[in-house]
Amino acid sequence: MPRPTGSALMEKIVSLCKRRGFIFQSSEIYGGLNGFWDYGPLGVELKNNLRDRWWDAMVRNPPTGPDGHELDIVGLDCAIVSHPRIWEASGHVESFADPMVDCKKCKARFRADQLDEMPCPNKPSKLAGQTEQCELTEPRAFNLMFKTYVGALEDPSSVAWLRPETAQGMFYNFKNVVDTTRVKVPFGIAQIGKGFRNEITPRNYIFRSREFEMMELEFFCHPSEASDWYQFWRQARYDFWCSLGLAGERLRLRDHAPEELAHYARETGGCADVEYAFPFSGDKGFSELEGIAYRSNFDLSQHTKHSGVRLEYFDPQRNERYVPHVIEPAAGLTRGLLAVICEAYDVDESRPSPELMRFDPRLSPIKAGFFPLVNKDGLPEIAEKLYRHFKRSVGPAQFDEKQSIGKRYARMDEAGTPFCITVDGQSKEDQTATVRHRDTGHQVRVALDQVNGYIAERVGGRK
Ligand code: ATP
Repeated sequence: MPRPTGSALMEKIVSLCKRRGFIFQSSEIYGGLNGFWDYGPLGVELKNNLRDRWWDAMVRNPPTGPDGHELDIVGLDCAIVSHPRIWEASGHVESFADPMVDCKKCKARFRADQLDEMPCPNKPSKLAGQTEQCELTEPRAFNLMFKTYVGALEDPSSVAWLRPETAQGMFYNFKNVVDTTRVKVPFGIAQIGKGFRNEITPRNYIFRSREFEMMELEFFCHPSEASDWYQFWRQARYDFWCSLGLAGERLRLRDHAPEELAHYARETGGCADVEYAFPFSGDKGFSELEGIAYRSNFDLSQHTKHSGVRLEYFDPQRNERYVPHVIEPAAGLTRGLLAVICEAYDVDESRPSPELMRFDPRLSPIKAGFFPLVNKDGLPEIAEKLYRHFKRSVGPAQFDEKQSIGKRYARMDEAGTPFCITVDGQSKEDQTATVRHRDTGHQVRVALDQVNGYIAERVGGRK
């Protein structure tokens, strides 16, 4: 069986992710809740590794700027619920809506702008609205924000919203960051966290869910330099996804056509998406993974207007006071995770269990599996000692002494573990073990006291 494509590929991926504990349907024993997902033992490690790569690439070791200087980027972690006026200022209360249509016959709900991709629930071979029975209403605006109430009273004065994006936290804390750190424009504020959108039709697994995680940067710069910084981030963000092994024909950078531009980007013209060819991307071929937008000074100006607090910057070098312009690269962590999973999934027919996950070793949830070849002659003790030492000093590992060695390799291949270390009879004689490489199946012998260093070097772990 070669690597399948389209919905057959998606089915295989969903099944492996469930079977191996990457992703579970949320509240499964109660029938699940549409648009919500839980990340299992392997999934949470993989997601955290992707999150950490982003944080490292953006905050701890940001790219070098065009002038050769390392960029100033600091992090934030804001509350999910914030003052409701924030969402008035940002425009979300008024216009964070998708057009929705209902079918009067089958009661199904669709996004009006996605009717060309949605099958009719009663006749899936046709599109929604295209059978004789379908009776679609006119589109109505449906606000995607989840509403809640703060405090004991459920009245209009206590209404609040779960944030649909993390970006506003960086804007309403702009003054706090400038006042408490030594950042100077140009600088960035980064945040990773949950976002909530009451999507009309959550679908395509974790691609479009109602609760998800985002990784966003707001980069503040002088208006005269903003176009250059937009070009800089547009390329840097594409390079980031390439560096995780997504480079190739399934990844592309696409500039928005003028009619697609969001209101704040209409004047600046700067908006591009990093897109990935997911198995369900269909005729369009690609779907959004990250958006990079030149937002001008829209957000800081809006919050200045609504809060009465001036969000501006005095630039000592230019001797000038101004409202910085903003470049925003906004990526989905959970959507990125799905891209990484889809890219890694492969089928190698030469193996007894052909499915494997070819994750970049730095992302792999388990870095190494440790096995005794047989369960006697002191081999389990040697393998377990190696495993414990590795776990303490390099990274996540698994010790497995059950079933045949072939089955143990297959389990690790499905988990995307880049290396397996097997202790055998020879290990007792010459103090070496075999190290098997996931991608090729090749084995090399490595001295027991060099196993940690050998693998750490290749997985980016602690040495
Ligand atoms: P889309 O057009 O797919 O609805 P968007 O343009 O509204 O996305 P942004 O508001 O730019 O998305 O959000 C930034 C990133 O957050 C997206 O590129 C995507 O990776 C992620 N994202 C947005 N909505 C969802 C969702 N419902 N589920 C998972 N990830 C999401």
